Amino acid sequence: MLKGKVAVVTGGSQGIGLEICKKMAENGADIALVDICAPEKAQAAADTIAALGVTVRTYQCNVADSAAVADTCKQILADFGGVDILVNNAGITRDNLILKMSEADFDAVIDVNLKGAFYMIKQFYRPMMKKKYGKIINISSVSGLFGNAGQANYSSSKAGIIGLTKSTAKELAARGVTCNAIAPGFIATPMTTSFQENEDLKKSIPCGRFGKPEEVAGLALFLASPASDYITGEVIRIDGGMAM
Ligand code: NAP
Repeated sequence: MLKGKVAVVTGGSQGIGLEICKKMAENGADIALVDICAPEKAQAAADTIAALGVTVRTYQCNVADSAAVADTCKQILADFGGVDILVNNAGITRDNLILKMSEADFDAVIDVNLKGAFYMIKQFYRPMMKKKYGKIINISSVSGLFGNAGQANYSSSKAGIIGLTKSTAKELAARGVTCNAIAPGFIATPMTTSFQENEDLKKSIPCGRFGKPEEVAGLALFLASPASDYITGEVIRIDGGMAM
């Protein structure tokens, strides 16, 4: 389905990002894995992905650093000759009530989750526009749709991602580039380890369980595939019914 395509995935070394890389690779896409983590960890992820028979390269980069993003994206374009799919998945949390939340923690979350996605889109905007093809997928959250106590920084960043998605979609739709957002609920990844056993939380989810990162990856695959060519500027929840 994605043979001959190049997919860039930020935060691709673990959790949802790694499953997205694997799902795209299973469907034939070559992968540029961008992550801030230690190179050995990214390489271990890359080895798993490469076993699926595609080309994988890793790039150590902090998406909150615009100069580093520019260098990394230039390198990706040089290495792969172009980019077809961009998944802005890298994200962090620094949860606290507003009363206790420091300005530094507010800024850190906005810088990675929102500005990081902006920097990445900015770098691949022209190449995708020129190619008249591109699939941009931004990972938002139900927190961005409905807010969440203790997550003013995170909810703001994820709501911002939705505005960024719609604006990007409107700017690039006529150029054959789509841009959509995925809004996951609770997904079982290292980010949510501390509350995965919370039974009250599970009861609040109609499906009665946390989602699997592979399930989010399945939705990302759909948004990266020709099956979604007429969908742009959309935000799709994947939350077991939690936020309906
Ligand atoms: P995760 O397990 O914490 O993985 C995030 C990955 O992003 C890690 O590899 C991390 O590297 C990397 N990363 C963090 N900061 C970065 C930066 N500045 N530059 C580049 N890479 C960076 O998270 P996840 O649960 O898979 O979440 C993935 C995305 O889904 C995030 O945007 C998250 O907000 C969103 N989401 C998750 C859930 C959920 O329930 N899990 C729900 C809604 C939305 P290090 O580990 O080295 O920091």
